[in-house]
Amino acid sequence: MMKYISTRGNAPELTFEEVLLTGLAEDGGLYVPKEVPQYTLAEIESWRDLPYAELAHKVIYPFVEGCVDSAALQTILNEVYGGFGHKAVAPLQQIDHNEYVLELFHGPTLAFKDFALQTLGRLLDYVLERRHEKVVIMGATSGDTGSAAIEGTKACKNVDIFILHPHGKVSEVQRRQMTTVKGDNIYNIAIEGNFDQAQDMVKASFGDQAFLKGERKLVAVNSINWARIMSQIVYYFYSSLNLGGPLRPMAYSVPTGNFGDIFAGYMAKKMGLPVEQLVIATNSNDVLHRLMSKNQYEVHPLQHTITPSMDIAVSSNFERLLFDLYDRDGAQLAELMGRMNAKKDVVSLDEEKLAKARALFDSFAVNEDETVKTMQDVFEETGYLLDPHTAIGVKAARETRRNQNIPMITLGTAHPVKFEDAVKRAGFEMPALPHHLTDLMDREERVNVLPADLEAVHKFIAENTFK
Ligand SMILES: *Cc1c(COP(=O)(O)O)cnc(C)c1O
Repeated sequence: MMKYISTRGNAPELTFEEVLLTGLAEDGGLYVPKEVPQYTLAEIESWRDLPYAELAHKVIYPFVEGCVDSAALQTILNEVYGGFGHKAVAPLQQIDHNEYVLELFHGPTLAFKDFALQTLGRLLDYVLERRHEKVVIMGATSGDTGSAAIEGTKACKNVDIFILHPHGKVSEVQRRQMTTVKGDNIYNIAIEGNFDQAQDMVKASFGDQAFLKGERKLVAVNSINWARIMSQIVYYFYSSLNLGGPLRPMAYSVPTGNFGDIFAGYMAKKMGLPVEQLVIATNSNDVLHRLMSKNQYEVHPLQHTITPSMDIAVSSNFERLLFDLYDRDGAQLAELMGRMNAKKDVVSLDEEKLAKARALFDSFAVNEDETVKTMQDVFEETGYLLDPHTAIGVKAARETRRNQNIPMITLGTAHPVKFEDAVKRAGFEMPALPHHLTDLMDREERVNVLPADLEAVHKFIAENTFK
C-alpha cells in the first residue's frame, strides 16, 4: 500500500485515504508519495491502445491501492471521463509542424481542473461512505477552481461544499458556472471584499475548525490535495502515447499558477515517461521565472491580468519539487521554506540545486500584450482560437524550444469562451457556448452575499451544514 510523507519531514506517514481527507501536513508541509511507481518503456508501450479511462486506471491505481478497490476505481473513472464532451477526452490539436495543443477543456466546466475534481469528488464520497463520515469542503476561488469543485461534488451525499468568491469580481460566465449548479449541498458565498480576503478566511478556518458542527472536518480542494495531482499525470501519458511515445520523447509547455499541473508532468517523467523538456509558462506573476532565471526568490504583490487563473503571488506546489531537489531532506526543506515564506529577504537556492532544476525545466514569462498577440498569431496561422492561458503556454513553448524534432505539446488549460475580456481584447467575437451550457445565461442563480467577516461566514456555514 502506498504511503505518503510530508515535505517537511515532521508529520506522520499517511495512507491515500488519509491524504485525501487532509489538507496541509501537521508540520506545514505537503504530502507526496513515499515511493514513485516506475515503468519500463515496454510497459508504457503496452498501454498504447487503451481508452482514456482505462489508461487512467493504470496510472492512478498504484497511488490508491489498498484504499480504493480496483473495480470501483474503474467504475468511477468510466463515469467521470464518459461525462466529458469529447469522446477522446483529451484530444490533440495540431497548430504547426510538430507543435500541438492538448485540449483539456472538454469537461463540464471547460477547464483542465475537471480532470482532477470530477474524480476527487467521487473518490471522497466512496471513502466517506465506507467510513460513515461526512465532511465540509471550503474553498476560495477567483474562477476555475470553484466551478470545477462544485461540479465535481454536486452529487456527493457525504459532502457539503461552501465556495467563497469575491463579490462582483468574477466574470459572468465563471460566476454562473458556480451559482447555477443545482444541489442541496452547494453554497456559493459572495464576499464583499477581494480574493485575498476570501482566501485568508479559508486559511483561518482550516486553522481553527471549532465552528463546524459535530465531528465534521474541512477538506481542501486546492492543488495541495495530492489526489488532484495524481489525476493530472494521466494526460501526459495519454498525449505521449498518441504521438508515438514512449519510443520518442515529448516536450510540454504548461501554463502555470500554483505549479500543480506542471508538477504532474514532472511525476510522469519520474514514472518513466520520456519527457525531454518541461516549460514553466507564467504570466506577469512570474515568481517562478525569476527564481529559475536569476536564482532570486522574492514574492511580489499580486497583479490582476487577463489570465486570472494564473494570478498567484506564491506557487504552493513548488515545495513538492524543492523536496526532490533537496534529496527529500525534510529538515533542510523546513528551514528553506521558513525563509521563503518569511517574505523578508530575497532567497536563493544552492547553485547545485538550481542546476538540477534548470536541467528539468525551462521557464518563460509572458505579458498581456504578448498573450493577446499570440492568440492573434495562432488564429491567423491556423484559424484556431486559443484561450489566453493556453496562449501563454504556446508563446513560452516557442521561445524556449530546445529541439524542433521533438513534438512540443502545450497544455490547453481552458476554453476561450470563459475569458471574454481577453477574447475581445484580441479582437475576436465570442465563440458559442458548448452545447451543455447553451442556456447558462438564463439559468437561475443561487448565491449568498456576506460581508468580509470571518464570524459571519462561520455562522452561515454552521447553520447550513447538512441541513
Ligand atoms: C488553474 C489553472 C491554471 C494553473 O494551473 P496550476 O496547476 O495552478 O499551475 C492555468 N490555466 C487555467 C485555465 C487554470 O484554470
